[in-house]
Amino acid sequence: MCGIIGYIGKQQATPILIEGLRRLEYRGYDSAGVAVLQNRELSTRKKKGKIDEGLAKVVQASPIYGQVGLGHTRWATHGPPTDENSHPHLDESGKLAVVHNGVIENFDTLKDRFLKAGHTFKSATDTEVLAHLIGHHYQMLTDAGKAGWSGEGTHPLTKAVMSALGEVIGTYGIGVICTDHPGIMVGARRGSPLIVGVGDGEHFLASDAS
Ligand code: GLU
Repeated sequence: MCGIIGYIGKQQATPILIEGLRRLEYRGYDSAGVAVLQNRELSTRKKKGKIDEGLAKVVQASPIYGQVGLGHTRWATHGPPTDENSHPHLDESGKLAVVHNGVIENFDTLKDRFLKAGHTFKSATDTEVLAHLIGHHYQMLTDAGKAGWSGEGTHPLTKAVMSALGEVIGTYGIGVICTDHPGIMVGARRGSPLIVGVGDGEHFLASDAS
């Protein structure tokens, strides 16, 4: 179990993410992190420990700005509670950030495949493998010249998430953002809770608070 929060809109994302994580902390409290997108760059802050003793202090000392972001408070299943194992996790390119609640059961097979392809992993989590898998599918769309969006049809980031999840055995609630598409935040779930908040010019993702 863990807590996920996502924000996309006109306000600064970080304070909203931190406050959302505080409210979801009962779902997981061994570590926490945020990733925020600004000027087509992702900045992440991650810290072992409770939010107010760890992440909130890190963010106060080293603020990150942007109007799109993801946050996560973790209850570790794969890899011990450490700064490195905290979410969000990035793909191989560093362009894509993922938060995840659940377990990727076939992560070891997928990880072997990406290690053979020369990928580097920074954590011991199943979630980082999922980030690399989504990044791989997004890269295939990029290589085929299909990662741009005309405003019609299924968004390429959504397509990449859908095709990646077709390879996954396990449970997930996820949030995904990408530096190429600062106006898009993708959520998906299977067997783990995830709710969408639709606002006026701003939208949210969150783990169910039940
Ligand atoms: N399996 C993931 C991990 O260990 C997510 C755990 C969670 O739901 O917090 O990092």
